[in-house]
Amino acid sequence: MTELRIEGLRAGVLGREILRGIDLVVRSGEVHAVMGPNGSGKSTLSHVVMGRPGYEVLGGAVTLDGADVLTMEPWQRAQAGLFLAMQYPTEVPGVSLDDMLVASFTAAGRDPDEVRARMVGEAERIGFDARFLTRPLNVDLSGGEKKRNETLQLGVLEPRIAVLDELDSGLDVDALRACSRRIEQATEETGLGVLAITHYRRLLTELRPDVVHILVRGEIRQSGGPELADVVEREGYAAFLGDEDAEAAPPAPAEPDPFADPLG
Ligand code: ADP
Ligand code: MG
Repeated sequence: MTELRIEGLRAGVLGREILRGIDLVVRSGEVHAVMGPNGSGKSTLSHVVMGRPGYEVLGGAVTLDGADVLTMEPWQRAQAGLFLAMQYPTEVPGVSLDDMLVASFTAAGRDPDEVRARMVGEAERIGFDARFLTRPLNVDLSGGEKKRNETLQLGVLEPRIAVLDELDSGLDVDALRACSRRIEQATEETGLGVLAITHYRRLLTELRPDVVHILVRGEIRQSGGPELADVVEREGYAAFLGDEDAEAAPPAPAEPDPFADPLG
């Protein structure tokens, strides 16, 4: 049983506070969804948990089974069992996916000879073309291919806790179903705990959340069951905004839903 515990986390960038006291606990096998308007701090949360440089932690704590995550280097966080599927996966010319995964297995003391077969198996599970496996990491991949690439890495690496930052963006409906189903299976097969950041409920049809949290202006305004995602789908975030939000900044316009049913 693994537990990622985020307590009173405050963080900012360039002197501006973005996360204003986040409390979240994700345990093995659990799926927590974080939904919130653009600019509410969702990606900042994922970056601070994984240790991306440039963010300043102003207070609070993040621990993995009691170990202080915030003092670890990003690679140490990965070896401790944390995984981030990035909203905008980085292109790394000259390094192929299989090179990267072999290096990762070797660094973690796992048998690198297993990587190839695992990659092929994972590619099959999510319908990802095997020709991508030896190509430079994310270079010239479509948005959806990058997201499948992230999902494949998750399947091969078997982290204990995964943060998925808008895994659904750029994925077409079939790929979205395949990826979210694969992650749901990981929660059952290896006890993966998931923090799934998403705008849209559809990620959460195959990847069923135990808890949904609504993040607004760097604060969790409400936590509840999957029905909260239905409220967001129906009414947007209006129900979670207060008067002080209108004064602080006009709400960002809702992103058009690329999968909206044109017939309503
Ligand atoms: P979300 O993922 O919820 O859309 P972000 O966490 O990306 O929101 O951003 C929250 C706020 O912090 C935004 O106003 C954004 O412009 C700002 N921000 C995030 N990262 C940076 C950065 N590296 N430099 C400057 N501003 C940033
Ligand atoms: Mg974001």
